[in-house]
Amino acid sequence: MERALTGISASPGIVVGPVRLLRWEVPDVPHRIVPDDRVPHEIERLHEAFARARDRLQQVVAKAEKHAGPEEAAIFEVQISILQDEHLQQQVAEYIRQNLAAEKAFDVVMQEWRQQFGRSQSPMMRERVRDLTDVQIRVLTILLDLPDHDPVAVDKGTGAILVTHDLTPSLTLQLDRDAIAGIATDEGTRISHVAILARSLGLPAVVGLREATERLRGDEFAVLDGTSGMLVVNPSEAEVEAFRRRAAVEKETEAELQKLVDAEPITTNGVRITIRANVDLPDEAEQAARSGAEGVGLMRTEFLVVGRAAMPDEEEQYRAYRRVVEAFYPHPVVIRTYDVGGDKLPTGGFPHEPNPFLGWRAIRMCLDQPDLFKDQLRALLRAGVHGDVRIMLPLVVTLDEVTAARTLLTEAAAELSERGVPFARDVPLGVMVETPAAALLAHTFGNDVSFFSIGTNDLVQYTLAVDRGNANLASRFTPLHPAVLWLVRRTADIAEQFDLDISVCGEMASHPLMAFALIGLGVRQLSVSPRAVPLVKRIIRGISSSFAAEAANAALSARTAAEAERELRYRLLAAFGDAPFLREHLL
Ligand code: PEP
Ligand code: MG
Repeated sequence: MERALTGISASPGIVVGPVRLLRWEVPDVPHRIVPDDRVPHEIERLHEAFARARDRLQQVVAKAEKHAGPEEAAIFEVQISILQDEHLQQQVAEYIRQNLAAEKAFDVVMQEWRQQFGRSQSPMMRERVRDLTDVQIRVLTILLDLPDHDPVAVDKGTGAILVTHDLTPSLTLQLDRDAIAGIATDEGTRISHVAILARSLGLPAVVGLREATERLRGDEFAVLDGTSGMLVVNPSEAEVEAFRRRAAVEKETEAELQKLVDAEPITTNGVRITIRANVDLPDEAEQAARSGAEGVGLMRTEFLVVGRAAMPDEEEQYRAYRRVVEAFYPHPVVIRTYDVGGDKLPTGGFPHEPNPFLGWRAIRMCLDQPDLFKDQLRALLRAGVHGDVRIMLPLVVTLDEVTAARTLLTEAAAELSERGVPFARDVPLGVMVETPAAALLAHTFGNDVSFFSIGTNDLVQYTLAVDRGNANLASRFTPLHPAVLWLVRRTADIAEQFDLDISVCGEMASHPLMAFALIGLGVRQLSVSPRAVPLVKRIIRGISSSFAAEAANAALSARTAAEAERELRYRLLAAFGDAPFLREHLL
């Protein structure tokens, strides 16, 4: 086997540890017939397997309760009740009496149940298919005596490298941060949400490895290099040593950049840039506030709901938003309303869609569910009492959506007023520019919003028609494609015309070469991952805005993304020479 697997760098850092393979998929079940006299034994095996699966689920419930609260734990209660269903056990026993081995009989019945539930008119029932699949995996793993791939089974302090096909929200919920030191996945790209979450948690991660779960057995030792996007299996002593040296160099460069925490992000010709942080989990607020960021340019609120059984209520949201607002006081905190859908889905209640990235999501879902949306809007208005809160709407394609959202915001304020609860008045409302429609029609929003924030992750996805989470397309996901640059330029021009704030909060802003391009295109506010704050500051302090503008103009005139990149790269290298910090971070 090739020992070095190359994927996509998703979250920096180098770790050395045992591989923990997590294959959460229904195993193949061989067709096995048993003689009549073995039937009672097979039925006994079935009952035993159910009992063991229930025990394991009780452990999961206890863990979920501790990490995420009783509501989340309830998801697994459903699975326990499936395992207690007498009707299910009788149906399987029936097949065993027809001489099918316990695992085959169980597999057949579960397939039937999944089909039945999947055809149901009720979304609640359809949602149960996922629980049935989980139960099927657990019980079959026991009956077939397969290695236990349960994520709860990793011991604390193991420092394991979790290798899995894709990290789903429910798996994420079960992960024990004290046991896992790094993540490697077959699927995903730098801007898929697994990667974003790994960065938020500060866990080194490599995604898009394609076949890692196929090629590993699970008993290996490995080096995970989240910075260069590699997983080296069973490394030699010399290789481990080399990685350790690299990790040390990385730390040094980082420490060097850290010195810029209090420095001003100002270009050599005196243009002041504002750098804010992207915050994905309220838990990271305090640490992010120490990165030197002047506020939050994007607080994603989906992570309050992904993997959960129910939406958090107004009170819980208010506490989460307030925590971030207070951590960054008196700086502004831009909070985005729910962007659920696509790859950010809560458990339950969401229709299965053939094309979720173009589906019922984000502002569309919120406007169709005004009660749910207003819970969030009231929580945001209340959090506004504690600092400078700004509300941002995702995936907007038309002014009508802003108008409808504003009506609901007014209603939310009136409701709070009636209840006598303190809230902020005049909270600014802005839009994300993350569709070509919003960029091309930016002028139509000019009089109705307070700011624009360009979401380049989606803007690139929708402009180039390249799925942001598809590892096979990663090389085609080119933010420096001139079509994208033109849309950014247009949005920046319109913002200037209407005297509106404009920032970029997509991943582009965290990348040195692209941040250079964005400054050149006229953007004066960047919102980046907290770790990237000093890095971007370093770039800004080493260039003049006119030099960046000249580079951006050259990139706009390029015919391809590769040409645009060349134009920018040679200029940036000319400005910084061979500075070690840049070597590690250039494309
Ligand atoms: C974006 O699309 O660029 C963005 C910042 O939002 P998200 O990555 O959460 O879709
Ligand atoms: Mg987006």
